[in-house]
Amino acid sequence: MPRDLLTVVVAAFNEAQALPLLHPRVRAALDGMPDVDGRVLYVDDGSHDATWTVLQQIAANDAGVGLLRLSRNFGKEAALTAGLDHVGAGAALILDADGQDPPELIPQFVAKWREGYDDVHGTRMEREGESWLKRGTAHAFYRVIGRLSHTPIPADTGDFRLLSPRSLAALRQLRERHRFMKGLFGWVGFNSTAIPYHRDARSAGTSKFNLWRLWNFALEGITSFSTAPLRLATYLGLLTAAVAFLYALWVVLKAMFWGDPVAGWPTMMAVILFLGGVQLIALGLIGEYLGRLYDEAKQRPLYLVDAWRPAAGVFSASS
Ligand code: UDP
Ligand code: MG
Repeated sequence: MPRDLLTVVVAAFNEAQALPLLHPRVRAALDGMPDVDGRVLYVDDGSHDATWTVLQQIAANDAGVGLLRLSRNFGKEAALTAGLDHVGAGAALILDADGQDPPELIPQFVAKWREGYDDVHGTRMEREGESWLKRGTAHAFYRVIGRLSHTPIPADTGDFRLLSPRSLAALRQLRERHRFMKGLFGWVGFNSTAIPYHRDARSAGTSKFNLWRLWNFALEGITSFSTAPLRLATYLGLLTAAVAFLYALWVVLKAMFWGDPVAGWPTMMAVILFLGGVQLIALGLIGEYLGRLYDEAKQRPLYLVDAWRPAAGVFSASS
């Protein structure tokens, strides 16, 4: 009987402190599953610190570890894509390098996969060590995107997830440059299920996502998975045009019946400024989509590989 193969994919950017804490936990989880052949694939997303040296040490001691290094920092979404592209056979499980997604839950994910689920994702019950601002904005974001997007995007769900071989193959076909992974996972579909978990604080190092990056991330999500803002601009335009028409009618009637003593500079300024503002917002919205279209049109690769060292063996209880 063929054994199940699972590759744990970890994207790491400046995680030299966190990785030595994470690896033994992943290893223990994989060693604890006698009927699964486990591998770990670490992707160094162009780190500036000792991450690559640390990873090489880890790989030197463990045959089940594969390493991939990108030519520069491409961002988490591209790093994950690179990792998933290099998984080879079997299922993949995505994990953060900072220990916020507990590797001890891997057996639960595998159990769900064996029950027949293609996409098993961790849903955060609570988030520790994160400011109320981050939690609040994250909460609002998941509600907004949930309403706007046509593909289902489960709330409070990050990238901690297991993908079966067929959903991995499906995901690999999506080659868009602006990659909002949460949405892409949802787009793939198949049977999915959630595992609630407690999200710990970071084990070491600092978060790579500040508020500005998160804001851009939210914009990416909304523009990648919804054209609702464009439609909103249309409705806003229609509404303003309707109001303007009524107001124009009133101005003309007033002039006809009561004459037209020149006045109304304040109203004119108000109308001009208001319309100018609305037009600029609508233009900016179109620009957001146009810019992304431009990036897609260039068809550049999603990432470039600097070094690739596949795992020589597997983790399993017998090894
Ligand atoms: N990460 C990455 N490339 C980046 C930024 C982050 O590979 O450009 C990785 C990072 O090393 C970590 C994961 O993405 O494994 C999540 O990042 P982080 O913990 O900083 O995000 P947060 O949990 O604060 O949202
Ligand atoms: Mg984190």
